[in-house]
Amino acid sequence: MTRARLIVLNSALGPLDYRVPHGMTVEPGSIVVAPLGPRQLIGVVWEPERLKTEEVGDNRLRPLIQAYDLPPLSAPLRRLVEWTADYYLAPLASVLRMALPSSGALEGARSITEYRATGQIPERLTPQRAQALERIGDRQGLIRELGIVGGVSDGVIRGLVKTGAIEAIEVTIDDPFPLPAPDHDPPALEPAQGQAAAELRDAVDARTFAPYLLDGVTGSGKTEVYFEAIAQAVRLGRQALVLLPEIALTEPFLKRFAARFGCDPVPWHSGLRQSQRRRAWRAIASGEARVVVGARSALFLPYPKLGLIVVDEAHEPSFKQEEGVQYHARDVAVMRAKLEEVPIILASATPAIESRHMVEIGTYKELRLPDRYGGARLPDMAALDMLQDPPPRGRWLAPELVRALEDNLAAGEQSLLFLNRRGYAPLTLCRHCGYRFQCPNCTAWMVEHRFTRRLACHHCGHMMPVPNACPECKEEDALVACGPGVERIADEVKALFPEARTAIVTSDTIWSPAKAAEFVARMEGGEIDIVIGTQLVTKGYHFPNLTLVGVVDADLGLAGGDLRAAERSFQQIRQVSGRAGRGERHGRVLVQTHDPSARVIQALVSGDAEGFYAAETDARREAAMPPFGRLAAIIISSEDQAEATATARAIGRGAPRRENMAVFGPAPAPLAMLRGRHRLRLLVHASRAVPVQDIIRDWLADVHWPRSVRVSVDVDPYSFL
Ligand code: ADP
Ligand code: ZN
Repeated sequence: MTRARLIVLNSALGPLDYRVPHGMTVEPGSIVVAPLGPRQLIGVVWEPERLKTEEVGDNRLRPLIQAYDLPPLSAPLRRLVEWTADYYLAPLASVLRMALPSSGALEGARSITEYRATGQIPERLTPQRAQALERIGDRQGLIRELGIVGGVSDGVIRGLVKTGAIEAIEVTIDDPFPLPAPDHDPPALEPAQGQAAAELRDAVDARTFAPYLLDGVTGSGKTEVYFEAIAQAVRLGRQALVLLPEIALTEPFLKRFAARFGCDPVPWHSGLRQSQRRRAWRAIASGEARVVVGARSALFLPYPKLGLIVVDEAHEPSFKQEEGVQYHARDVAVMRAKLEEVPIILASATPAIESRHMVEIGTYKELRLPDRYGGARLPDMAALDMLQDPPPRGRWLAPELVRALEDNLAAGEQSLLFLNRRGYAPLTLCRHCGYRFQCPNCTAWMVEHRFTRRLACHHCGHMMPVPNACPECKEEDALVACGPGVERIADEVKALFPEARTAIVTSDTIWSPAKAAEFVARMEGGEIDIVIGTQLVTKGYHFPNLTLVGVVDADLGLAGGDLRAAERSFQQIRQVSGRAGRGERHGRVLVQTHDPSARVIQALVSGDAEGFYAAETDARREAAMPPFGRLAAIIISSEDQAEATATARAIGRGAPRRENMAVFGPAPAPLAMLRGRHRLRLLVHASRAVPVQDIIRDWLADVHWPRSVRVSVDVDPYSFL
């Protein structure tokens, strides 16, 4: 190759051609450094015939600067990058960036300097220094990473290094990872598990694309089943990738994995330090990292010997990325499995309607685990009618739920109260003049957080202290909290049961794997009686002594009313119910609702998942909604409202007329303002046969808008805000 066509890591640039200098060899997939004006850019060599660009004569080509000594990105991964960019209307460079690490990891093995506390207390202990040292604890990282953890500037950390309170240490980044042992401690499987595991092992052996839906109630032992498939991939010397929805999940998962395979898998998530990230990326790219457990971003990494993909809790909406490239990791994972010609397992106790539909039309094969492992029964469910038997004024727990909590405490068993709302109260207003605290940047109320004594916007992170007087009428002590968040429920529990030991589990309290581990240890050690938590506690955890779940507000998820609202409520409440009675003791779930006759509540109480899914699926089919039809949203935003509106109108006017396709809007988005930007939306609804992406691409290419306006396309949207 004397010429090379590159995708460079700059989404504003198209493909670029370069000359390959003497002595350098590259092939498609090679990771290289190329000059651009006075700068240097990282790029990846691509098949020239697959990228359209203007032809440039040989004599005008600049030479490449360097080719990294790394395995080239494989052809299946290159096809995946193309497919993702094409399907989600994203720049190739933006997708490619997800496959590559920061430039540090591209260099050879090196050591880097990290910092950690020495335990020495500096002579001058300012409040900032004290805060930093307390939050850093025994963590280690770059100056910048410690600054973020400590909530202080880099300067404060450097100051602490000078005083000796923090010290530098050298870390090598190419330490090998231990190899999981496939036969370390396999369980004796139950018959249904054994059958499913055998089929999956065969699929791993066959090395062909085979999508499976592993559908089993909570506690049925799905994890043990797909562990057998992973073991087989490891035996064959192949790599396995397990995608999990949230960082908090990785901690219990890592423990189980280590018990089964004798060592930790290689983790990949946003909480990794840069040194860990580099080490993991290099081990993945060399094929040495056998089992990778990660958040959705692990999907695009360059596994050279991929043998299996598992997507656990595959119904989770958090697999949809809402920023940058707006892709759905579950769907892209299936495409990767197809391109790599490997099996993929979507595991869930409450599969998405989309996934069930794929089973119905014969594209996915379903493996069912109908019973809980070890004879544990599913919990009893009952609805509590909040109109018939309401809590006293200013309280949120109905008398029957309070009695159940009391009984559980007396029996020495653990309880969980679920409310998907962080903070103390979702709205604060002035009793005197009616003033409501709204975020200055977003169409959203400020949420009171009583522990930190602040009002916070859950969309942009804006914070303010809670004032003593109303900012509008200046009346003192007139502010009232409206509605409950988990902190308020915790207060109610404390008032009812002063002796009970409680824990709040939300992203405010469990913000790192270490925090999650701490929580798990306290639960397992019996140090907690009542957990009050958001959706963070709905999945993954296995606490045998947890026997009562109270759903504080089952109607909450239905309020938004988007197409998946009922499905999501059903999934969430089923998942949280699945935390109850996983051990020998029987579990019980009480669901507080104002509408016990609602289809979702009926289905939950009767346990008729099939009926519920059938009715929801029919409704989708009739409305030609996904998976029976296609949706794509176009979101226009700008700091300047007039500009945003003008652009949205221009896009609306340019909407093509096509058969079996309708365009709705533009209309102000429900979140009409977000992070200081005004937002409008259009929604495209089409039948499955319509090539929506091509149409939108051509349509938007004909409309022009000011640089300050952002237009993004959300293909298969999950958020309608
Ligand atoms: P799911 O993922 O379906 O919710 P898990 O895989 O978490 O279920 O299994 C529930 C519990 O039962 C876990 O504690 C797990 O270790 C245990 N378990 C499942 N299958 C077996 C088995 N064959 N032998 C021993 N323990 C098992
Ligand atoms: Zn805000």
